[in-house]
Amino acid sequence: SIGAHLEAADMAAQEQKEYDYDLVTIGAGSGGVRASRLAAGNYGAKVAIIELPFGFVSSETVGGAGGTCVIRGCVPKKLLVYASEFAEHFHDAEGFGWAATAPPHDVKKLIGRKSKEVERLNGVYAQILTRAGVEMIEGRGVVLDPHTVEVRAADGSVRQLRTKNVLVATGGRPVKPNIPGAELGICSDEALCLDDIPSGGTIVIVGAGYIAVEFAGIFRGLGYDVHLVVRGPSPLRGFDEECRGVIAENMTKRGIQLHFGTNPTKLERNADGGLNLHVYNNKEQTGGIIECAQVMFATGRAPNTRGIGLEDAGVALDDKSRAVKVDQYSHTNVPSIWAIGDCTDRMNLTPVALMEGKALVATLFGGKSTVPDYENVPTAVFCQPPLGTVGLTEEQAVEQLHGDIDVYISKFKPMKNTLSGRDERTFMKMIVHVQTGRVVGCHMVGPDAAEIMQGLGVALKCNATKAQFDSCVGIHPSAAEEWVTMS
Ligand code: NDP
Repeated sequence: SIGAHLEAADMAAQEQKEYDYDLVTIGAGSGGVRASRLAAGNYGAKVAIIELPFGFVSSETVGGAGGTCVIRGCVPKKLLVYASEFAEHFHDAEGFGWAATAPPHDVKKLIGRKSKEVERLNGVYAQILTRAGVEMIEGRGVVLDPHTVEVRAADGSVRQLRTKNVLVATGGRPVKPNIPGAELGICSDEALCLDDIPSGGTIVIVGAGYIAVEFAGIFRGLGYDVHLVVRGPSPLRGFDEECRGVIAENMTKRGIQLHFGTNPTKLERNADGGLNLHVYNNKEQTGGIIECAQVMFATGRAPNTRGIGLEDAGVALDDKSRAVKVDQYSHTNVPSIWAIGDCTDRMNLTPVALMEGKALVATLFGGKSTVPDYENVPTAVFCQPPLGTVGLTEEQAVEQLHGDIDVYISKFKPMKNTLSGRDERTFMKMIVHVQTGRVVGCHMVGPDAAEIMQGLGVALKCNATKAQFDSCVGIHPSAAEEWVTMS
C-alpha cells in the first residue's frame, strides 16, 4: 500500500538524516517542472531541479527548462502546423471572392521566428521555477544512491545533492529503425529546424504515429512533396479504425503519397547529393527506391534512462523499453525514488505528465495519496484537418462492453467547404453503451476537432449520457452542434 511505501521512505530518510533537499528532480520538462513548482510553491518543500543547458548540438536542440513539449515537441510543432495551414486558407479564399494566390513562403524566416519563440518560452519556464522557489541547477543529474544526486556541469565541475526524495522526469527521445544508413536521416528534433530544403523538394517520412502524420501535414502545407512510408495497412494504429481511414483519404487528397505495407530497408546518399530510401513492400514482395532531399524517421520514442545511474541505485527498469517501472503512485521499487512522464512510458502526453506530477506532489507533500486518472483522457493529432478523440474506440468498445453499444456517425461537408469547393468531409463518431445510455467514446476528424474534443472530454468525465447530449441546445451554425443532434 502507499502508506507502507511512504513509511518505508520515511524510515529510510530518518536513517540517513540531514538532507539538503526534500526533492531533487532530474529533468525540467512538463512533468518535472509541474511537480517541482507545486512542491516548492504550494507546500514549501525545498526543491532543486537539474537540467542540461539549452542549446543546439548539430541542429538538434538539447536541454532547457520546458523539455520536449516546449522546446522540441508540442509547442514548436503547433507553430509549424499554423504556418502550413495558411496554404489551405490561401487556396480556399478564392471561392469567397479573394483573388488570392499563395505568396512565396520563407521557410528560413519561419524557423527563425519559431526558434525565437521557443527561446522566450524557455526563459519563461526558468522564471516560473525560480519564482516558485525552486533552485535550478544546470548540468547532468546522475543518481549515485537513493538519497544522493550528482550534478555534472558542462564546465566539468561536480556537485552532490543530498535529498530525501528523487524524482526522475527525464522524458524520452526519438529512435531510428535499425537499418543501414539510418544516420543520414533526421528525427523530429531536426525536422523542427529544417530550413534548407528548397520549396517543392521531396521529404520522406517513415512511420505513421502522431509525429509522422503531423509532420506530413506540416511539410505538405509548406509546399513540399511528401511521402509517408507506413509498415501497416493504414496510419495511426490504435485510433478508431474509421477515423484512420478518413485521415488516410484526407492526406491523399491533399497530395501526400502514402505507401502502405512498406518497410524501409536502407538509406544512402545518391550521386545528386540527395538521398535514396530503399523500401520493401511485404505484401506485393516488391522493392523500390524513393529519391528525396530528406528522410525523417518518426518511428517512436524511447525513455531517457541511460547514463543517469538508475541501475546503480537499484531502480527497476522495464526489460524491453527501459522505462522506469512505477506503481500507480509513480513510486519506483526504491522507496525514495519516484518517476513521472515519458521516462515511465505510460501515456506519453504532456497533460498526462502534468497530472502525474500534481498527483505525486499531493502524495509526497500534501498528505493525500493521489492516483492519476487515465480514464477518458482526450487527445488530438494535429494532422490537417485534425483528429480529436476521447474515450473508447469502436473496436475497444465492442470488446470491453461485449458489443452492447450503439454507434452514431455523422459525415458532412463543413459549411466553409461549400464555397471553397474543398472536397473534404468532416467525420464524427459517437459510441454509446446501450445498457447505461452513457457516451463512452467520441471521435472526430475535421476542422477544430481538438478544440471541440476538450469540451466533450469534460462531458465524458461527468459520465454524460446520450440523452443528456441530446438535451443540450446546439450552437448554430457550427460543426460542433452535430454532437447534440446525432440520430
Ligand atoms: P508512435 O509510437 O506513436 O508511432 C511510431 C510509428 O512508427 C508507428 O506508426 C510504427 O508502426 C512505426 N514504426 C516503428 N518502428 C518502425 C520501423 N522499424 N520501421 C517502420 N515503421 C516503424 O510514435 P511517435 O514517434 O509518432 O510519437 C511518440 C509519442 O509522442 C506518441 O505516442 C504520443 O504519445 C506522443 N505525441 C503526442 C502528440 C499529440 O498529442 N498531438 C504529438 C506527437 C507525439 P506500427 O504502428 O506498425 O507499430
